[in-house]
Amino acid sequence: MTLSDLGAKVGRAPSQLSLLENGRREPKLSLLQSLAAALEVPVEELLRRQPPSRRAQLEIALEEAQRDPLYQSLGLSYLKVGKRMPNDVIEHILALYEELKRSRTKPTASPEEARKANAELRRQMHERGNYFGEIEQVAARTLGAVGYRGGAVSQGMLMSLVQHFGFDLRYVQDLPHSVRSVTDLRNRRIYLEREQLGMHTPRTILMQTLGHIALDHDVPRDFADFLRQRVEANYFGAAMLMPESAVVPYLQEAKAARELSVEDLADVFSVSYEMAAHRFTNVATHHLGLQSHFTKNDESGTIYKAYANDGLIFPQDSDGAIEGQRMCRQWAGRHVFAAPDRFSVYYQYTDTPNGTYWCLSHIDPSHERDFAITLGVRFEDSRWFRGRETTNRVRSSCPDGDCCQRPPAELAQRWEGMAWPSARAHSHVLSVLPPGAFPGVDDADVYEFLDRHAQG
Ligand SMILES: [Zn+2]
Repeated sequence: MTLSDLGAKVGRAPSQLSLLENGRREPKLSLLQSLAAALEVPVEELLRRQPPSRRAQLEIALEEAQRDPLYQSLGLSYLKVGKRMPNDVIEHILALYEELKRSRTKPTASPEEARKANAELRRQMHERGNYFGEIEQVAARTLGAVGYRGGAVSQGMLMSLVQHFGFDLRYVQDLPHSVRSVTDLRNRRIYLEREQLGMHTPRTILMQTLGHIALDHDVPRDFADFLRQRVEANYFGAAMLMPESAVVPYLQEAKAARELSVEDLADVFSVSYEMAAHRFTNVATHHLGLQSHFTKNDESGTIYKAYANDGLIFPQDSDGAIEGQRMCRQWAGRHVFAAPDRFSVYYQYTDTPNGTYWCLSHIDPSHERDFAITLGVRFEDSRWFRGRETTNRVRSSCPDGDCCQRPPAELAQRWEGMAWPSARAHSHVLSVLPPGAFPGVDDADVYEFLDRHAQG
């Protein structure tokens, strides 16, 4: 029975019945009764939630699948299900649709997968001295296309870049909390918030967003792919805001004058301290012949980002992951939080079992928490940097447990078994927590606190 056949029987236009059929309108009881009479079924039959048959169930499921934006993103034309289409064909299509849904939601990895993916990525970065020549080239070509001639990149040039990729920029107030930007590929719009999100300025986020487009990224296959894309897009963003052709001569000159400084680099290119320090590691080995390390950690010492090709040994778990581990209390990234002026640059020499390092550390304040950004080199390379004359010098024997990973014996004796800390929830990027009975809790800190207050 077609819609017009049924419409004729109940005295309604087929278009009205179509609205009912698609769930856009609800019928009055009187219409329901006429429909039941016309179809020769009891009214309850029409109100039942279960599909009347397996066939009807499959047809409904296929109809719903075709309305899913994910399904529509495949760009297939609408499939009209005729009477002659066998059930197993519909079942086949539905199974493919389920697999599509499953595979597209994969980037949420288990902590183990995340740690492994991170470790593998770090291995690759280490191998190439954190320098990605092919991304430098894409960035240089892109800048060339909008007439970049040197120096820092102006705001006007950034807007030309957005146009160059055929996009339109929209500032909004209601961006979802879990994202930094949203790109509408259909209408070619990039949505951003005008305020700074922690260290991420709108222009940094914008360049990273364009990075996914410039580098032809596809929907990530798995977590490792997601991570690789994020690293590449961030690299592209830094290479756009701090072009290789401008940064390298600038740093070479500073090195010749023994005045290398991350603050100056951040100032000259108007980028965050974090971006300047990380960008330094991109070009340090390839162009300046310097090996270095970079870390980002919070006040509790939890490491969020780490890179090294200068032989520094980070704490790591059995999968080789460094993120989520706690940094030695003696390292510059920890001491900077206790420095008399915690927001100016802090310099320190650290004697480790693997040699002496010189580090500069700076706290980048952010919305949620402050992060210490550290750049370091081996002792002999400190001569190229401003701040080498510092008299701060400490000894770290980590990863040996007697350094700081265990509370001092005397303290532990007084408090072991007598402390019940309630852990602060970690909003860690990878939900990877440092190991311990109370994950994320620094026993030594807790014991010291107890000691102090017990005395008072
Ligand atoms: Zn230590």
